[in-house]
Amino acid sequence: MSGVGKGLATASIGKILQQYGFKTTAVKIDPYINYDAGTLRPTEHGEVWVTEDGGEIDQDLGNYERFLNMEISKRNNITTGQIYKAVIDKERKGEYLGETVQFIPHIPNEIKRRIKESARGYDVALVEIGGTIGDYENIPFLFALKSMEREIGEENVMYILITYLPVPGHIEEMKTKPTQQAIKMLSENGIFPDFILCRARAPLDRVRKKKIETYANIDAEHVISAPDVDTLYSVPLNFEKERLGQKIITKLKLQARKKPNWRRWRELLQHVEHPTKRITIAMVGKYVDIGDYKLADSYISINQALEHAAAAHNVGIDISWIDSKELEKDRRKIEKLKNYHGILIPGGFGATGVRGKMRAIQYAREEGIPFLGLCYGLQWAVVEFARNVCGYKEANSTEVDPKTKYPVIDIIPTQREIIADRRYGASMRLGAYAATLRKGTRILDLYKRSNRLKEDMVKIAQLERDPGERFRLGVLHRGEKVVLERHRHRYEVAPQFVDVLEGNGLIFSGYHQCEDGTKLMEFLELPAHPYFVATQAHPEFKSRLERPAPLFTGFVEAAASAG
Ligand code: GLN
Repeated sequence: MSGVGKGLATASIGKILQQYGFKTTAVKIDPYINYDAGTLRPTEHGEVWVTEDGGEIDQDLGNYERFLNMEISKRNNITTGQIYKAVIDKERKGEYLGETVQFIPHIPNEIKRRIKESARGYDVALVEIGGTIGDYENIPFLFALKSMEREIGEENVMYILITYLPVPGHIEEMKTKPTQQAIKMLSENGIFPDFILCRARAPLDRVRKKKIETYANIDAEHVISAPDVDTLYSVPLNFEKERLGQKIITKLKLQARKKPNWRRWRELLQHVEHPTKRITIAMVGKYVDIGDYKLADSYISINQALEHAAAAHNVGIDISWIDSKELEKDRRKIEKLKNYHGILIPGGFGATGVRGKMRAIQYAREEGIPFLGLCYGLQWAVVEFARNVCGYKEANSTEVDPKTKYPVIDIIPTQREIIADRRYGASMRLGAYAATLRKGTRILDLYKRSNRLKEDMVKIAQLERDPGERFRLGVLHRGEKVVLERHRHRYEVAPQFVDVLEGNGLIFSGYHQCEDGTKLMEFLELPAHPYFVATQAHPEFKSRLERPAPLFTGFVEAAASAG
């Protein structure tokens, strides 16, 4: 069922297979009709994940990228909507040559085509089917995989059931019944799991394992415990305690290509679990109308990016979520921000709480508290600077005040055309864009230190011709220091205000140059401040445990030395 940790289990299995030397990728199937997650309510599904090629996708792809330490295309997220749309589009174009287009075989065929396309070039492709066995919606996908088994040979397909074992409070006993039901329902689709991963509060005991073994008719060795953990990065190691990797490899009749080496992973995990010191970060955002929904989930990638940067420095991170509206109601609350080692303003939309965000930014700027602004965070840092330093008291973003006299954050008409031209459909700047970094800036230094600068222009130009249209390069010149970060926003720093902002001491450390010459500001910093950095991008999407994102690294470093 959803929320039980299928995504994490898939990502962890992928990580293990990589450790044995296999080129591994992962595909997520979302059986809903939406074409993608871009239009889903964030309060229901958590944060939207943005891929390098501009896909707006469910967080599972984020877990895959973070664990597998690779970039995964939006094509690796398959929804029912996409499958039907593809089949209907083909039918309209007459590609079925007069055939009656039917559920079987056309829908499963399209599903198989998509899976094979994502798997091309890899040794192993993990396919995670969302939802719960027994749902009407996932029947076509089960059918497709079953038929794939015949097509590519039984020995090349393996099924893993991820099941949940509840411990009802009033009896305090772990129940295997839902697992038995799941096994039965899978068998009705001709699927017999090769492994069963048992999600539960605690590891399974012998009695429970035996029960499942008998019921599913599989070896108890293939019934694997997946107990709750405090740190997600311990999941692959927990699986390896039961030798899951070797068992999967044997089942697929493969030979391990190398001996796993978990040294660095273990070391980082040790830092996460037992850091030598702790710092606290105030995350000032808009936390409204989300009912029972867990706050932490709406910023998963930022939380992860902070954790990655902290692990690299052997620091523990405690995040306090502060509703920016509270800072508007009570001025004294601003003073409390001095108790934090750093202030982070995440992305956001709309007018709610923006005055509070600006107050927090002003406080960080004036009091020398390390500050990191992401996307909306950059935009309000610019408005705050325009108002309080440049003296444009009425400066604003046109997202909040379309009639402002000083629209320092605005929609750029030429950019609107570019977006339309790129067939990105929506009006957002989505996916990875190149940014040229300015010499002598702190941001250039951070990117250089983390080996993320692209200097090989020829190679980039070649990649640009990649039919997958992986990212937007815009205009670049030889010798420029270039980085690629992902975007998801509509508004930009208005070019006509750049000079006056810079004249007052703000440094725009990087920009994207559009084909028509317009420069979109991507990074800013204040040189005299311990750490005042913001970006129009979402660098959190490219942060990995083993490869933290540079701006987060700088932020954590500054916060840790402040505390
Ligand atoms: N609302 C802003 C925009 O659309 C910022 C979006 C974001 O933070 N992701 O430009």
